Amino acid sequence: MSDDSKVSCAAHGEAYTTYVCEHLVNNPVQRWHSAAPSEDNRWPDAWCSKCNVEFLKQGEWNERNEKGLVPKILCHICYESAQVRSLNRLSGAAAQTWDEFVDNSSAVLQKKQALLEETFQLGSHKRWDWDQDKAQLVFSNDGVAALLCDIAFVGSVSTKSNTWLWSWANFSLSAAVRASMGKVREFGEERDFPKLIIPKWPAEEVDGWEMSSAAVEVLGARGVYRTPSQNGFTFLAILNVRRAQ
Ligand SMILES: [Zn+2]
Ligand SMILES: [Zn+2]
Repeated sequence: MSDDSKVSCAAHGEAYTTYVCEHLVNNPVQRWHSAAPSEDNRWPDAWCSKCNVEFLKQGEWNERNEKGLVPKILCHICYESAQVRSLNRLSGAAAQTWDEFVDNSSAVLQKKQALLEETFQLGSHKRWDWDQDKAQLVFSNDGVAALLCDIAFVGSVSTKSNTWLWSWANFSLSAAVRASMGKVREFGEERDFPKLIIPKWPAEEVDGWEMSSAAVEVLGARGVYRTPSQNGFTFLAILNVRRAQ
């Protein structure tokens, strides 16, 4: 469903219309299945694992299986807050698998960061600039470029709203800097890791590092560069580095 249809929500007033299966409305603390959000469909139709069995039989919703789906309308703000409730749904072995993944990725990132700094001394340059269309981060001194990095934007932590926002759901960024990030979300779908799938959620700076370590792992990146922004931090995955001369 496209973003332009509106609904009047008792709690939030006029907002965008979204559709989710009745089971997710009744109990949002379970797995959400949906397409990835896109610029013109930021709150894609979502359904539970039980409905997903029917979806997978056809590979789409069509006249053969859609009778089983009872979609409910939610306003986009209700959709987002219901989806966020599914963030901590993992328990037991599944929760442990996620924790181990984060611990391992964070340990690997720490080593990569040390190696990157040792080899290229990112911190020693006077300034940095990014070029979103070229997906490039340039370190320079007195107008002379020193290092050129190919980058992907991972996401950002807002210290104002205390949230994490994945770059793949941040459509104010150029397509070039978020193009490869779809792989990170797909990996989250495959492994059933909710924090890699939900676009925006309550977070602190440490979450930015953890999600960046996950992205570095999936993308095989060389490290992370964190830049300050007006309301927090933007995390960039460094895919490649080379000296400018
Ligand atoms: Zn369902
Ligand atoms: Zn609402």
